[in-house]
Amino acid sequence: MAAIINQRVDQGESSMGGAKPTLLHKIAGHVARINDVILLSKDEGVWTASDDRSVRLYLKRDNDQFWPSIHHFMPVAPTCLFYSEETYKLLVGLINGNVYEFNVADDFNSMTESRKWTCHAGPISGLGFALSSELIFSCSRDKSIVWHCSENSNKVGSYLLENSCTAMVIDLPFVFVGDHGGHVTVLRIIDNQPNLVSKLSAHTNSITSLTWDGNKKVLYSGSSDHLIIMWDIGGGKGEAYELNGHNGKVTTLCAAPAAKRLFSADEHGKLMCWDMDVRRVETPEWKTSDCCQKCNQPFFWNLQAMWQRKVVGLRQHHCRTCGSAVCGSCCDNWTTYPPMGYETKVRICNDCAGRMKENPGNFDLTPLAIPHEIRTGITAMHLQETLGLLVTSGQNRVVMIWDVRSVCSAPSGSGGH
Ligand SMILES: [Zn+2]
Ligand SMILES: [Zn+2]
Repeated sequence: MAAIINQRVDQGESSMGGAKPTLLHKIAGHVARINDVILLSKDEGVWTASDDRSVRLYLKRDNDQFWPSIHHFMPVAPTCLFYSEETYKLLVGLINGNVYEFNVADDFNSMTESRKWTCHAGPISGLGFALSSELIFSCSRDKSIVWHCSENSNKVGSYLLENSCTAMVIDLPFVFVGDHGGHVTVLRIIDNQPNLVSKLSAHTNSITSLTWDGNKKVLYSGSSDHLIIMWDIGGGKGEAYELNGHNGKVTTLCAAPAAKRLFSADEHGKLMCWDMDVRRVETPEWKTSDCCQKCNQPFFWNLQAMWQRKVVGLRQHHCRTCGSAVCGSCCDNWTTYPPMGYETKVRICNDCAGRMKENPGNFDLTPLAIPHEIRTGITAMHLQETLGLLVTSGQNRVVMIWDVRSVCSAPSGSGGH
C-alpha cells in the first residue's frame, strides 16, 4: 500500500486561512449554454452571451433580484463579449466569424448596432480593445488574429497561427494568443505590425483560457490537459511554474493582480483560488532511462536487458518532485507538494519521500490554494477585483455572483516575497 506522507492537507487550512467564496446571487432563466459573462464595475449588472443567440444585460433591481434590462437576439450564437465601461461600447463575437459593435444606452435599456466586421471564417474565440491605441483585436477558430482601427473601422493588421486560436489577452504592445495545439504565441505589435516574440509550448492539450497579471507581468494559461502554467514574462528568464489542482479540463481563468490571487475553474465545477504571493518552485524535467534509476530493473521496452538478466520488464513512472524515471515499487508514495503547484496528491520516489519524512520542516505542505466545489461545470467567469466580486456561468445555465473579498484580502501565509 502506498505510504501517505502528510495528512495535514486533509484537515489544515490553506496559506490564506479558512476563507471561502460566498454565493451572493443566482441568475436563472437561460435556456442554452452560456458562452461568456462580464460583470460591470460601476453598476450592479452582468452581461451574458448564450447559444440561444441572446446577448443579455441583467441589472439588480430594488428587490435585490437580477432582471434582464437588455435582451437582444443576434443572427447566430454569440461566442464572446468585450465591454468598455468608459465608452459604453459592447463588442460581440459570433460563431460565424462576424464581430458586431453596439452602443449601449446610458440607462442600460437598449443597445444599438454601430458597426459590423466580417473578419473571420470561423467562430470568434477572443476579443480585445486597446482604448489608447484605438485598436480592436479579434481571434478565431479560423487560426487568424485581426486588428481594426476603432475610429475608422479599417483593418490594420493580421497574423495567422498554425492552429485554431482559442483564447487571447492583450496588453499592448503585447498580444498573447492560445491555440488548439496547446501553444501560446506572444506577439509584439509595433506600428500596427506583428512581430513574433516567442511561442510558449508546455501544455499537452488545447489552451482554453489566458489571463494576464499586468503588475507582475505574468501570464497564466489554462488547458484541457488539466494544468495551469504561470509564465514569468517580465522576469525574462523563461521561468514557468505549474499549478496542478484540477482533475478535469481547466475552462476559465481570472487573475487578481492587486490581491495577488488567481481564480481558475474546470469542467467538473471546481473553483480554485491560488495564493500567488508565495515563492514557488519550478517542476523538474522528466528524465529518460531504460532502467529504473533507483533499483536498476529494466523497463518493459528494454528487451536486451530483460533477456540477458532473465527478468520481466517494469512499467516506467516519474517522480514528480525530482523527475527520476523509476519503477512502480520505487515510486510508491503519494503526496501533495504545494510549492511545486501540486495541490492534489502525486507520485514521488522513495528517496524524495524519505527526505520529506526525515526533514518535514524543509517541506511545507500547507495548501497554497483554496478549492471550492460548485457542482456544475463552469463555462465562463469574470472578476471585478476592485469590488471583490466574481461571476461564473455553469453548465446548468445558472449565473452565480460570488463575494470573494475575504479570499482576496486574507493575508498570505508562507513563503518569501
Ligand atoms: Zn525501481
Ligand atoms: Zn524523487
